[in-house]
Amino acid sequence: MTLITLDAVTLRSQPYSETSRIVTFMSRESGLVKGMAKGARGKRGRFGATLEPLQRVRVTLSVKGSRDLQTVTEADLLQPYERIREDLFRSTYAQCVLELTSRVVWQEHASEDVFELLLAILHAYEEGIGDPQLLFITYQIHLSAALGYAVDLEACSGCGGSVGEQVRFSLAEGAALCSGCYSQGGSHITLSGESAALLVRLSRPDGIAAAAALQPGADVRRSSGRLLQRYLEYHTETDLALRSLRLAERIGTWEPAGNLKGTKGQTV
Ligand SMILES: [Zn+2]
Repeated sequence: MTLITLDAVTLRSQPYSETSRIVTFMSRESGLVKGMAKGARGKRGRFGATLEPLQRVRVTLSVKGSRDLQTVTEADLLQPYERIREDLFRSTYAQCVLELTSRVVWQEHASEDVFELLLAILHAYEEGIGDPQLLFITYQIHLSAALGYAVDLEACSGCGGSVGEQVRFSLAEGAALCSGCYSQGGSHITLSGESAALLVRLSRPDGIAAAAALQPGADVRRSSGRLLQRYLEYHTETDLALRSLRLAERIGTWEPAGNLKGTKGQTV
């Protein structure tokens, strides 16, 4: 038995038995880790609210062999993300970020890049920077790259020219073809030039800052998000119809509900 201490974000917390919880962490040091927190349930649970989802914590685990489930021995709160919780629209999209992370990052897939990206996106939600849906799209595209499936929509992969107004995106290659280079066959998704331009902009290193300044239309946001979902599903072989995303999209259609969207009257 070894004790390890991790810098981590809580992604999920499921009740287990009368008194315990199973908590899924995304950690800087060890990627995705699951821990059993004994005595964590109930009002006077041993860990208080520290192990609720959407917190940055310093967690100590007792690790035995290569078991998938370790034992949580200590947890200290580092960042409670209180301001995200105050806003329903933002907090629902932040849940999408957590849910997506828990599904596509495998255990033992330690990646400091993914962890840093997760912190950066949660920071943007906490500070109310940018449109929540656009931030989620930004997360999807940078997460794809961090997992080894970078998307390249800058130019046609056939002729190197501009992708034009009707882009054919290859799920297998993560690359685009212009109408001139495209021939039938293969798993291609058709995408508007506007959506491709948005994804190019958001995929750059300053994508989060760009998301704060851009205001693409609802159709462009929806098609860009869907494309990335299908792309990640293709490469991770995981169903990514996220429960939290369905909820976030439903909240997004509640009009007029400006106060639910939080970001100081900004149009979403
Ligand atoms: Zn071409």
